[in-house]
Amino acid sequence: MDLGLQNKVAIVTGGSKGIGLGIVSLLLKEGAKVVNVSRSPADVLPTPEMSDKYLFVQGDLSTTETCRMAVQQTLQRFHFIDILVNNAGVNDGVGLSAGPDAFQQSLQRNLLHYYAMAHYAADFLKQARGSIVNIGSKVCETGQGGTSGYAASKGAINALTREWAVELAPAGVRVNAVLPAETWTPLYERCLAEMPDPVAARAAIERLIPLERRFTTIEELAAMAVFLASPASSHTTGQIIFVDGGYTHLDRKCTVDTVADFGAAAT
Ligand code: NAP
Repeated sequence: MDLGLQNKVAIVTGGSKGIGLGIVSLLLKEGAKVVNVSRSPADVLPTPEMSDKYLFVQGDLSTTETCRMAVQQTLQRFHFIDILVNNAGVNDGVGLSAGPDAFQQSLQRNLLHYYAMAHYAADFLKQARGSIVNIGSKVCETGQGGTSGYAASKGAINALTREWAVELAPAGVRVNAVLPAETWTPLYERCLAEMPDPVAARAAIERLIPLERRFTTIEELAAMAVFLASPASSHTTGQIIFVDGGYTHLDRKCTVDTVADFGAAAT
């Protein structure tokens, strides 16, 4: 399938690692020009053949100025903006006991730059009849405990996906969200590394994932995000799509190994 991404200009936040790096790599492979706004450069980008289509903008997205500068530098280098992928975020464990200042800082890390990037890019996305993809999290629906700032941010990202889809529909701009649950990334690896037995912790999580009892890959996440970003999904907007092997919504009984484990109530 031709996704129609040749020479489209895409901004991806947090594109140096994990899901963001997967999205940047696939967009480049599909012929798009890509701007990666991230704290540190990607180890693997750009390859020599991609260097004329790739721009790295270094900065911390918690600062609004980084967002403004990223849009400005994109326009200076590539002149248009067709696609915005808001991806950068971190499950920073700011719970109820952390207090209002820490909560606000978590919103800065996880939410406010999604709005700022969309704000600064909106006029150019309208000119291009482009699209926005927001990367969320299953935590917005399931909760997790001890992570109020992240959960609130991800809940707001779903709401903004619908809100912007309505606001931007008259200009032909589509807005969708992709929600991971358990995707194997450096972020996830770091979280598990803090546990007493990371290998056992990984195996325990995998047993809870209905489809193939494994983590979602970065490539599987990127495939959905890039499809939604592309003109190939030209009549899809306001959608919140879980790429999670059924983790969030399927009957929990399906990850119990035997009916005996579950008792008699397998209805
Ligand atoms: P990751 O492996 O940590 O990669 C995130 C990238 O974004 C890193 O390059 C990071 O830079 C950059 N970044 C983060 N905050 C930034 C900031 N304030 N300013 C500039 N750059 C920043 O994370 P990931 O697992 O791919 O997660 C990507 C998105 O998916 C996040 O929104 C996350 O909430 C969501 N998500 C992931 C999972 C999962 O299972 N992995 C589950 C649910 C939701 P540094 O390298 O400098 O930190």
